[in-house]
Amino acid sequence: MHPESPRQAVSFAKRFRSPYIAGGTWLQPSCERDRQWPVQLVALNPDWPEFRGIRETEEGLSIGALTTLDELARHPLMALYLPQLNGLIKRVAGPGVRHLGTVGGNLFAGGDLSALALALDTEVDLVGSKGSNRRPLTRWLPDRQGGDLLRSVSLPDSRGWRVSLEKLGYRERFSPTRATVACVHDGEKVQLAVCGEGGPGRLTVTEAMLRDEGIRELTDLAIVVDSELETLGWHDTRLRLAVRRMLESGLMELTRDV
Ligand SMILES: Cc1cc2nc3c(=O)[nH]c(=O)nc-3n(C[C@H](O)[C@H](O)[C@H](O)COP(=O)(O)OP(=O)(O)OC[C@H]3O[C@@H](n4cnc5c(N)ncnc54)[C@H](O)[C@@H]3O)c2cc1C
Repeated sequence: MHPESPRQAVSFAKRFRSPYIAGGTWLQPSCERDRQWPVQLVALNPDWPEFRGIRETEEGLSIGALTTLDELARHPLMALYLPQLNGLIKRVAGPGVRHLGTVGGNLFAGGDLSALALALDTEVDLVGSKGSNRRPLTRWLPDRQGGDLLRSVSLPDSRGWRVSLEKLGYRERFSPTRATVACVHDGEKVQLAVCGEGGPGRLTVTEAMLRDEGIRELTDLAIVVDSELETLGWHDTRLRLAVRRMLESGLMELTRDV
């Protein structure tokens, strides 16, 4: 289906219980894997206002949901606001997928960008059948519904923030990400998030411990991180260990030379 407007897209998605399709690079392999193809798809149009492109706002940056990963990586504003992003995007799939895959599709699917976006306190601008609304990504992502149409994401002004990003994958280049960890220091506090096999989530308990007590001992940190990851849905013990190591290394990177 090719709706004429974002509102019509929402109405089609709800009425026919059909998913949206942006670049199709996540949908296609997941439908093939599950051997379940939707009867209809609702095609999103990058020409709709504010759905594509990156612009500066009073708070930071607004990124259209249909901006491709390639455009995001190459945009001069991203180099200014978030120079660390380029290195992460180079590790997302291959050039062909990055050329088609979009920011919105990646966030909706809990892809690599979701850890960074969660750690940055990103907000999402959603189109509904009755109007638009803005919500923190941390609230939207855990209960996102098929009919939610993401128009854009708002990033705070992160110039000068310390950001560390670590990704763990399988050896094969085109296999799904096992875990991505984002550590952000906004000048006052540390913000941490993960995504991957256990799902996307912000590590608020670990953040609170770091805020209140600093890193007393790495063993204390390990216990808190481990239990928080398990609560979020990371049930593979070895993968939790790997995520903990990635977090420790990220935190070391953030605090180096401070
Ligand atoms: C070979 C290969 C390797 C890959 N490697 C990686 C990787 O390393 N890291 C990674 O993160 N991902 C990877 N992916 C997954 C995927 O390519 C990316 O996550 C991509 O950004 C998804 O964007 P898309 O536009 O193609 O999403 P689509 O496939 O079009 O959509 C994905 C989901 O998001 C929903 N959606 C899309 N846009 C919106 C919107 N604006 N509002 C609401 N819902 C929306 C769709 O309904 C669908 O459920 C890989 C894919 C392939 C095929």
